[in-house]
Amino acid sequence: MFSLARTTLTASGAVMRPVLATAMAAPARSLNLHEYQSKELMQKAGLYIQQFGVAETPEEAEKVAANMVFDEGSEFVIKAMVHAGGRGKGVFTNGFKGGVHLAKTPEEVRELGLNMLGHSLVTKQTPAEGVHVGKIMVAEALDIDEEKYFAILMDREYNGPVLIASPQGGMDIEAVAEETPDAIMYEPVNINTGLTDEQLQRVVKFLKFKTETHEESAKEQIAKLYDMFLDVDATQIEINPLGTLETGRVLCFDAKVNFDPNAEFRQKDVFTMHDTSEDDPREVEAAKYDLNYIGMDGNIGALSTAPIALEGATPANFLDVGGGATEEQVEAALRIISSDTQVKAILVNIFGGIMRCSTIAKGLTSALESLNLDIPLVVRLEGTEVEEGNRILKESGFAITTATDLEDAAKKAVATL
Ligand code: GDP
Ligand code: MG
Repeated sequence: MFSLARTTLTASGAVMRPVLATAMAAPARSLNLHEYQSKELMQKAGLYIQQFGVAETPEEAEKVAANMVFDEGSEFVIKAMVHAGGRGKGVFTNGFKGGVHLAKTPEEVRELGLNMLGHSLVTKQTPAEGVHVGKIMVAEALDIDEEKYFAILMDREYNGPVLIASPQGGMDIEAVAEETPDAIMYEPVNINTGLTDEQLQRVVKFLKFKTETHEESAKEQIAKLYDMFLDVDATQIEINPLGTLETGRVLCFDAKVNFDPNAEFRQKDVFTMHDTSEDDPREVEAAKYDLNYIGMDGNIGALSTAPIALEGATPANFLDVGGGATEEQVEAALRIISSDTQVKAILVNIFGGIMRCSTIAKGLTSALESLNLDIPLVVRLEGTEVEEGNRILKESGFAITTATDLEDAAKKAVATL
Protein backbone atom coordinates (compact mmCIF):
# COMPACT_ATOMS: atom_id res chain seq x y z
CA MET A 1 0.00 0.00 0.00
CA PHE A 2 2.82 2.39 0.84
CA SER A 3 4.78 1.63 -2.32
CA LEU A 4 1.66 2.18 -4.32
CA ALA A 5 1.27 5.77 -3.20
CA ARG A 6 5.01 6.30 -3.53
CA THR A 7 4.87 5.17 -7.12
CA THR A 8 1.93 7.47 -7.82
CA LEU A 9 4.14 10.33 -6.73
CA THR A 10 7.10 9.45 -8.91
CA ALA A 11 5.69 7.80 -12.00
CA SER A 12 3.08 8.87 -14.46
CA GLY A 13 1.84 8.33 -17.99
CA ALA A 14 2.62 5.27 -20.01
CA VAL A 15 5.01 3.64 -17.56
CA MET A 16 2.75 4.08 -14.59
CA ARG A 17 0.81 0.87 -14.79
CA PRO A 18 3.65 -1.64 -15.08
CA VAL A 19 5.69 0.19 -12.43
CA LEU A 20 2.70 0.18 -10.15
CA ALA A 21 2.30 -3.56 -10.48
CA THR A 22 5.95 -4.13 -9.60
CA ALA A 23 5.87 -1.73 -6.71
CA MET A 24 2.86 -3.46 -5.24
CA ALA A 25 4.67 -6.77 -5.29
CA ALA A 26 7.67 -5.29 -3.50
CA PRO A 27 7.93 -4.70 0.22
CA ALA A 28 7.85 -1.07 1.34
CA ARG A 29 11.10 0.43 2.54
CA SER A 30 10.54 1.73 6.03
CA LEU A 31 12.61 4.15 8.03
CA ASN A 32 14.27 3.02 11.24
CA LEU A 33 15.80 5.37 13.76
CA HIS A 34 17.97 4.59 16.76
CA GLU A 35 16.41 5.00 20.18
CA TYR A 36 18.44 8.15 20.92
CA GLN A 37 17.20 9.70 17.68
CA SER A 38 13.59 8.88 18.50
CA LYS A 39 14.15 10.36 21.92
CA GLU A 40 15.48 13.58 20.39
CA LEU A 41 12.19 13.87 18.52
CA MET A 42 10.25 13.07 21.69
CA GLN A 43 12.11 15.74 23.60
CA LYS A 44 11.19 18.25 20.90
CA ALA A 45 7.58 17.13 21.23
CA GLY A 46 7.68 18.08 24.91
CA LEU A 47 7.88 14.59 26.36
CA TYR A 48 9.86 14.00 29.52
CA ILE A 49 13.00 12.07 28.55
CA GLN A 50 15.88 10.95 30.79
CA GLN A 51 19.09 12.89 30.14
CA PHE A 52 21.17 11.07 27.57
CA GLY A 53 24.21 11.25 25.35
CA VAL A 54 25.67 9.06 22.60
CA ALA A 55 29.18 7.63 22.30
CA GLU A 56 31.18 5.79 19.68
CA THR A 57 34.18 4.88 21.87
CA PRO A 58 34.51 3.67 25.49
CA GLU A 59 36.41 6.88 26.38
CA GLU A 60 33.68 9.03 24.90
CA ALA A 61 31.09 7.05 26.86
CA GLU A 62 33.01 7.67 30.08
CA LYS A 63 33.14 11.39 29.30
CA VAL A 64 29.40 11.56 28.57
CA ALA A 65 28.74 9.90 31.93
CA ALA A 66 31.19 12.12 33.82
CA ASN A 67 29.55 15.26 32.43
CA MET A 68 26.07 14.22 33.42
CA VAL A 69 24.45 16.10 36.28
CA PHE A 70 21.69 14.04 37.79
CA ASP A 71 18.24 15.42 38.47
CA GLU A 72 16.60 12.36 39.93
CA GLY A 73 18.77 9.37 39.15
CA SER A 74 22.04 8.19 40.63
CA GLU A 75 23.11 5.53 38.16
CA PHE A 76 23.71 5.26 34.43
CA VAL A 77 21.93 3.08 31.91
CA ILE A 78 23.91 2.04 28.84
CA LYS A 79 22.19 0.71 25.73
CA ALA A 80 23.43 -0.69 22.43
CA MET A 81 22.09 1.31 19.49
CA VAL A 82 20.77 -1.17 16.94
CA HIS A 83 17.59 -1.10 14.86
CA ALA A 84 16.10 -4.00 16.81
CA GLY A 85 14.31 -4.62 20.07
CA GLY A 86 14.93 -7.24 22.73
CA ARG A 87 18.36 -5.76 23.47
CA GLY A 88 18.11 -6.29 27.21
CA LYS A 89 18.01 -10.07 26.71
CA GLY A 90 20.43 -10.04 23.78
CA VAL A 91 23.93 -11.54 23.69
CA PHE A 92 27.04 -10.15 21.97
CA THR A 93 29.03 -12.37 19.65
CA ASN A 94 32.02 -11.92 21.98
CA GLY A 95 29.99 -13.68 24.67
CA PHE A 96 29.09 -10.54 26.61
CA LYS A 97 25.51 -10.76 27.85
CA GLY A 98 22.91 -7.99 27.57
CA GLY A 99 22.54 -4.96 25.30
CA VAL A 100 21.19 -2.85 28.20
CA HIS A 101 23.16 -2.36 31.44
CA LEU A 102 23.17 -0.27 34.57
CA ALA A 103 26.42 1.26 35.86
CA LYS A 104 27.33 3.22 38.97
CA THR A 105 30.41 5.13 37.83
CA PRO A 106 31.83 6.65 34.60
CA GLU A 107 34.65 4.04 34.79
CA GLU A 108 32.07 1.26 34.77
CA VAL A 109 30.43 2.93 31.79
CA ARG A 110 33.75 2.78 29.92
CA GLU A 111 34.14 -0.91 30.79
CA LEU A 112 30.69 -1.63 29.42
CA GLY A 113 31.50 0.39 26.30
CA LEU A 114 34.57 -1.78 25.78
CA ASN A 115 32.42 -4.92 25.82
CA MET A 116 29.69 -3.54 23.58
CA LEU A 117 31.22 -1.20 20.99
CA GLY A 118 32.63 -2.82 17.89
CA HIS A 119 30.90 -6.13 18.64
CA SER A 120 27.69 -7.61 17.24
CA LEU A 121 24.54 -7.98 19.28
CA VAL A 122 22.16 -10.87 18.67
CA THR A 123 18.56 -10.46 19.85
CA LYS A 124 15.25 -12.13 19.01
CA GLN A 125 14.75 -9.44 16.40
CA THR A 126 18.14 -9.45 14.66
CA PRO A 127 19.58 -11.85 12.04
CA ALA A 128 21.39 -14.83 13.61
CA GLU A 129 24.82 -13.26 13.04
CA GLY A 130 23.71 -10.16 14.97
CA VAL A 131 24.06 -6.46 14.26
CA HIS A 132 27.26 -4.44 14.63
CA VAL A 133 27.14 -1.94 17.50
CA GLY A 134 28.84 1.32 16.55
CA LYS A 135 27.10 3.56 19.07
CA ILE A 136 25.90 3.29 22.64
CA MET A 137 23.52 5.54 24.49
CA VAL A 138 24.47 6.63 27.99
CA ALA A 139 21.52 7.90 30.02
CA GLU A 140 20.58 8.82 33.53
CA ALA A 141 18.99 5.68 35.01
CA LEU A 142 15.86 6.07 37.08
CA ASP A 143 14.32 3.63 39.53
CA ILE A 144 11.50 1.97 37.65
CA ASP A 145 8.66 0.96 39.95
CA GLU A 146 6.32 -0.61 37.41
CA GLU A 147 6.58 -1.35 33.70
CA LYS A 148 3.59 -0.85 31.38
CA TYR A 149 3.19 -1.16 27.62
CA PHE A 150 1.89 1.57 25.36
CA ALA A 151 1.88 1.97 21.58
CA ILE A 152 0.15 3.87 18.81
CA LEU A 153 -0.21 2.13 15.47
CA MET A 154 -1.57 3.35 12.16
CA ASP A 155 -4.04 0.59 11.48
CA ARG A 156 -4.99 -0.13 7.90
CA GLU A 157 -8.23 -1.92 8.67
CA TYR A 158 -9.44 0.81 10.96
CA ASN A 159 -7.85 3.38 8.65
CA GLY A 160 -6.54 5.46 11.51
CA PRO A 161 -4.47 5.45 14.71
CA VAL A 162 -5.14 2.84 17.38
CA LEU A 163 -3.82 3.08 20.93
CA ILE A 164 -2.59 -0.21 22.35
CA ALA A 165 -2.07 -0.54 26.08
CA SER A 166 -1.19 -3.26 28.55
CA PRO A 167 -0.41 -3.23 32.27
CA GLN A 168 2.08 -6.03 31.51
CA GLY A 169 5.00 -4.02 30.12
CA GLY A 170 8.71 -4.60 29.84
CA MET A 171 8.24 -7.98 28.22
CA ASP A 172 7.58 -9.23 24.73
CA ILE A 173 4.10 -7.93 23.77
CA GLU A 174 3.60 -10.85 21.36
CA ALA A 175 3.90 -13.21 24.34
CA VAL A 176 1.31 -11.18 26.27
CA ALA A 177 -1.01 -11.28 23.24
CA GLU A 178 -0.67 -15.04 23.08
CA GLU A 179 -0.85 -15.93 26.76
CA THR A 180 -3.12 -13.24 28.21
CA PRO A 181 -4.91 -11.50 25.33
CA ASP A 182 -7.31 -9.81 27.79
CA ALA A 183 -4.38 -7.88 29.21
CA ILE A 184 -4.20 -5.82 26.01
CA MET A 185 -6.54 -2.97 25.16
CA TYR A 186 -7.11 -1.49 21.69
CA GLU A 187 -8.53 2.00 21.51
CA PRO A 188 -9.10 3.35 17.96
CA VAL A 189 -8.93 7.12 17.59
CA ASN A 190 -11.01 9.05 15.11
CA ILE A 191 -8.32 11.07 13.38
CA ASN A 192 -10.72 13.96 12.70
CA THR A 193 -12.06 14.26 16.24
CA GLY A 194 -8.69 13.55 17.82
CA LEU A 195 -7.92 11.86 21.09
CA THR A 196 -10.65 12.57 23.69
CA ASP A 197 -10.39 12.87 27.49
CA GLU A 198 -12.70 9.85 27.84
CA GLN A 199 -10.33 7.77 25.78
CA LEU A 200 -7.31 8.90 27.78
CA GLN A 201 -9.18 8.08 30.97
CA ARG A 202 -10.08 4.58 29.69
CA VAL A 203 -6.49 3.86 28.72
CA VAL A 204 -4.92 4.95 32.01
CA LYS A 205 -7.54 3.02 34.02
CA PHE A 206 -6.74 -0.09 32.00
CA LEU A 207 -3.03 0.39 32.71
CA LYS A 208 -3.76 -0.02 36.47
CA PHE A 209 -1.56 2.72 37.89
CA LYS A 210 -1.04 2.90 41.64
CA THR A 211 -2.19 6.48 42.16
CA GLU A 212 -4.12 9.28 40.48
CA THR A 213 -0.86 11.25 40.19
CA HIS A 214 0.48 8.44 37.99
CA GLU A 215 -2.70 8.52 35.90
CA GLU A 216 -2.44 12.25 35.30
CA SER A 217 1.23 11.99 34.41
CA ALA A 218 0.50 9.13 31.99
CA LYS A 219 -2.34 11.09 30.35
CA GLU A 220 0.00 13.99 29.67
CA GLN A 221 2.68 11.74 28.14
CA ILE A 222 0.16 9.81 26.04
CA ALA A 223 -1.47 13.00 24.71
CA LYS A 224 1.96 14.30 23.70
CA LEU A 225 2.86 10.99 22.06
CA TYR A 226 -0.36 11.17 20.06
CA ASP A 227 0.42 14.70 18.84
CA MET A 228 3.93 13.65 17.92
CA PHE A 229 2.60 10.58 16.09
CA LEU A 230 0.65 12.86 13.75
CA ASP A 231 3.34 15.57 13.51
CA VAL A 232 6.14 13.26 12.36
CA ASP A 233 3.97 11.03 10.14
CA ALA A 234 4.69 7.98 12.26
CA THR A 235 3.16 4.61 11.47
CA GLN A 236 4.13 3.27 14.88
CA ILE A 237 5.34 4.55 18.23
CA GLU A 238 6.01 1.77 20.71
CA ILE A 239 6.93 2.51 24.33
CA ASN A 240 8.01 -0.59 26.22
CA PRO A 241 8.38 0.01 29.05
CA LEU A 242 6.25 2.98 29.82
CA GLY A 243 7.66 3.08 33.34
CA THR A 244 6.50 4.57 36.60
CA LEU A 245 8.52 6.16 39.39
CA GLU A 246 7.40 6.04 42.99
CA THR A 247 7.10 9.82 42.90
CA GLY A 248 4.13 9.49 40.55
CA ARG A 249 5.94 10.32 37.33
CA VAL A 250 5.30 8.17 34.26
CA LEU A 251 7.79 8.23 31.40
CA CYS A 252 9.02 6.52 28.27
CA PHE A 253 12.04 4.36 29.08
CA ASP A 254 12.32 2.85 25.62
CA ALA A 255 11.01 4.06 22.28
CA LYS A 256 10.64 2.58 18.83
CA VAL A 257 9.26 4.86 16.15
CA ASN A 258 8.55 3.96 12.53
CA PHE A 259 7.72 6.46 9.82
CA ASP A 260 5.54 6.52 6.76
CA PRO A 261 7.93 6.32 3.77
CA ASN A 262 5.45 8.36 1.72
CA ALA A 263 5.90 11.31 4.03
CA GLU A 264 9.63 11.65 3.31
CA PHE A 265 9.08 14.82 1.27
CA ARG A 266 7.67 16.69 4.28
CA GLN A 267 9.78 14.98 6.97
CA LYS A 268 13.22 15.71 5.57
CA ASP A 269 14.72 16.30 9.05
CA VAL A 270 13.57 12.91 10.26
CA PHE A 271 14.66 10.99 7.18
CA THR A 272 18.15 12.51 7.11
CA MET A 273 18.70 11.13 10.64
CA HIS A 274 18.63 7.58 9.28
CA ASP A 275 21.80 5.61 10.06
CA THR A 276 22.41 3.44 6.99
CA SER A 277 25.18 1.29 8.50
CA GLU A 278 22.77 -1.61 9.15
CA ASP A 279 21.22 -1.50 5.68
CA ASP A 280 22.06 -3.58 2.62
CA PRO A 281 24.86 -1.48 1.01
CA ARG A 282 23.27 -2.01 -2.40
CA GLU A 283 20.00 -0.52 -1.15
CA VAL A 284 21.89 2.45 0.25
CA GLU A 285 23.76 2.96 -3.03
CA ALA A 286 20.50 2.65 -5.00
CA ALA A 287 18.77 5.20 -2.78
CA LYS A 288 21.48 7.74 -3.67
CA TYR A 289 20.30 7.51 -7.26
CA ASP A 290 16.63 7.50 -6.30
CA LEU A 291 16.37 3.87 -7.31
CA ASN A 292 14.27 1.40 -5.39
CA TYR A 293 16.44 -1.73 -4.97
CA ILE A 294 15.55 -4.74 -2.88
CA GLY A 295 17.94 -7.68 -2.66
CA MET A 296 16.59 -11.23 -3.07
CA ASP A 297 18.09 -14.71 -3.17
CA GLY A 298 18.05 -15.67 -6.85
CA ASN A 299 20.62 -15.56 -9.62
CA ILE A 300 19.09 -13.41 -12.34
CA GLY A 301 19.62 -9.70 -11.79
CA ALA A 302 16.65 -7.71 -12.98
CA LEU A 303 16.17 -4.12 -14.02
CA SER A 304 12.57 -3.92 -14.96
CA THR A 305 9.43 -1.83 -15.10
CA ALA A 306 7.23 -4.91 -14.74
CA PRO A 307 7.18 -8.06 -12.61
CA ILE A 308 9.12 -10.88 -14.20
CA ALA A 309 8.05 -14.51 -14.10
CA LEU A 310 11.11 -16.69 -14.55
CA GLU A 311 10.67 -20.35 -15.26
CA GLY A 312 13.54 -22.39 -13.86
CA ALA A 313 15.25 -19.45 -12.11
CA THR A 314 14.59 -16.85 -9.45
CA PRO A 315 15.25 -13.12 -9.44
CA ALA A 316 18.22 -11.84 -7.44
CA ASN A 317 16.60 -8.52 -6.73
CA PHE A 318 13.81 -6.12 -7.34
CA LEU A 319 14.89 -2.88 -8.95
CA ASP A 320 12.45 -0.28 -10.08
CA VAL A 321 13.84 2.56 -12.21
CA GLY A 322 10.71 4.67 -11.98
CA GLY A 323 9.14 6.77 -14.70
CA GLY A 324 11.68 9.42 -15.61
CA ALA A 325 14.99 7.61 -15.21
CA THR A 326 18.18 9.19 -16.50
CA GLU A 327 21.18 7.65 -18.24
CA GLU A 328 23.08 7.99 -14.95
CA GLN A 329 20.41 6.07 -13.04
CA VAL A 330 20.41 3.22 -15.55
CA GLU A 331 24.19 3.02 -15.29
CA ALA A 332 24.05 2.97 -11.47
CA ALA A 333 21.33 0.33 -11.57
CA LEU A 334 23.41 -2.01 -13.71
CA ARG A 335 26.47 -1.48 -11.55
CA ILE A 336 24.52 -2.26 -8.36
CA ILE A 337 22.86 -5.37 -9.81
CA SER A 338 26.15 -6.78 -11.10
CA SER A 339 27.90 -6.18 -7.76
CA ASP A 340 25.92 -9.16 -6.39
CA THR A 341 28.23 -12.17 -6.90
CA GLN A 342 25.22 -14.51 -6.96
CA VAL A 343 23.98 -12.88 -10.14
CA LYS A 344 24.70 -15.16 -13.13
CA ALA A 345 22.79 -13.19 -15.78
CA ILE A 346 21.13 -9.81 -16.06
CA LEU A 347 17.77 -9.17 -17.57
CA VAL A 348 16.76 -5.65 -18.49
CA ASN A 349 13.12 -5.17 -19.35
CA ILE A 350 12.01 -1.61 -19.82
CA PHE A 351 8.94 -0.08 -21.29
CA GLY A 352 10.14 3.33 -22.40
CA GLY A 353 7.28 5.73 -22.00
CA ILE A 354 8.59 8.85 -20.39
CA MET A 355 12.07 7.35 -20.37
CA ARG A 356 13.11 6.90 -23.98
CA CYS A 357 14.64 3.59 -25.08
CA SER A 358 17.61 5.48 -26.54
CA THR A 359 18.37 6.87 -23.05
CA ILE A 360 18.22 3.40 -21.55
CA ALA A 361 20.49 2.04 -24.27
CA LYS A 362 23.03 4.84 -23.72
CA GLY A 363 23.01 4.22 -19.97
CA LEU A 364 23.54 0.50 -20.52
CA THR A 365 26.42 0.90 -22.95
CA SER A 366 28.23 3.51 -20.88
CA ALA A 367 27.84 1.22 -17.84
CA LEU A 368 29.32 -1.67 -19.83
CA GLU A 369 32.31 0.49 -20.80
CA SER A 370 33.29 0.89 -17.14
CA LEU A 371 31.97 -2.36 -15.67
CA ASN A 372 33.82 -5.22 -17.31
CA LEU A 373 30.69 -7.32 -17.12
CA ASP A 374 31.48 -11.01 -17.57
CA ILE A 375 27.94 -12.41 -17.38
CA PRO A 376 25.25 -12.48 -20.08
CA LEU A 377 23.03 -9.43 -20.51
CA VAL A 378 19.57 -9.81 -22.04
CA VAL A 379 17.73 -6.64 -22.94
CA ARG A 380 14.16 -6.10 -23.97
CA LEU A 381 13.19 -2.57 -24.84
CA GLU A 382 9.76 -1.44 -25.84
CA GLY A 383 8.11 1.94 -26.42
CA THR A 384 9.40 5.37 -27.39
CA GLU A 385 12.46 5.32 -29.71
CA VAL A 386 12.81 1.55 -29.49
CA GLU A 387 14.55 1.24 -32.91
CA GLU A 388 17.10 3.86 -31.94
CA GLY A 389 17.66 2.08 -28.60
CA ASN A 390 18.24 -1.31 -30.22
CA ARG A 391 20.56 0.28 -32.79
CA ILE A 392 22.71 1.82 -30.03
CA LEU A 393 22.95 -1.59 -28.31
CA LYS A 394 23.90 -3.37 -31.51
CA GLU A 395 26.51 -0.81 -32.56
CA SER A 396 28.09 -0.73 -29.10
CA GLY A 397 30.02 -3.89 -29.86
CA PHE A 398 29.11 -5.49 -26.53
CA ALA A 399 27.62 -8.99 -26.43
CA ILE A 400 24.05 -8.05 -25.66
CA THR A 401 21.17 -10.42 -26.38
CA THR A 402 18.07 -8.51 -27.40
CA ALA A 403 14.55 -9.83 -26.94
CA THR A 404 11.21 -8.95 -28.45
CA ASP A 405 8.94 -9.36 -25.44
CA LEU A 406 9.14 -10.13 -21.74
CA GLU A 407 8.56 -13.86 -22.14
CA ASP A 408 11.24 -14.08 -24.80
CA ALA A 409 13.64 -12.10 -22.58
CA ALA A 410 12.98 -14.30 -19.52
CA LYS A 411 13.53 -17.48 -21.58
CA LYS A 412 16.77 -16.17 -23.05
CA ALA A 413 18.07 -15.15 -19.63
CA VAL A 414 17.25 -18.52 -18.04
CA ALA A 415 18.83 -20.33 -21.02
CA THR A 416 22.20 -18.70 -20.28
CA LEU A 417 22.44 -20.26 -16.79
P1 GDP B 1 14.93 -3.55 24.87
O1 GDP B 1 15.34 -4.75 25.63
O2 GDP B 1 15.58 -3.48 23.54
O3 GDP B 1 13.44 -3.40 24.79
O4 GDP B 1 15.51 -2.28 25.70
P2 GDP B 1 14.87 -1.38 26.84
O5 GDP B 1 15.31 0.00 26.63
O6 GDP B 1 13.40 -1.59 26.95
O7 GDP B 1 15.60 -1.90 28.14
C1 GDP B 1 15.39 -3.20 28.64
C2 GDP B 1 15.03 -3.15 30.10
O8 GDP B 1 16.01 -2.46 30.83
C3 GDP B 1 13.74 -2.39 30.37
O9 GDP B 1 12.61 -3.18 30.19
C4 GDP B 1 13.96 -1.97 31.82
O10 GDP B 1 13.56 -3.01 32.68
C5 GDP B 1 15.46 -1.80 31.93
N1 GDP B 1 15.78 -0.36 31.92
C6 GDP B 1 15.84 0.49 30.87
N2 GDP B 1 16.10 1.74 31.30
C7 GDP B 1 16.20 1.70 32.64
C8 GDP B 1 16.44 2.67 33.67
O11 GDP B 1 16.60 3.87 33.45
N3 GDP B 1 16.45 2.21 34.96
C9 GDP B 1 16.23 0.91 35.28
N4 GDP B 1 16.25 0.56 36.55
N5 GDP B 1 16.02 -0.02 34.34
C10 GDP B 1 15.99 0.35 33.04
MG1 MG C 1 12.04 -2.18 25.44
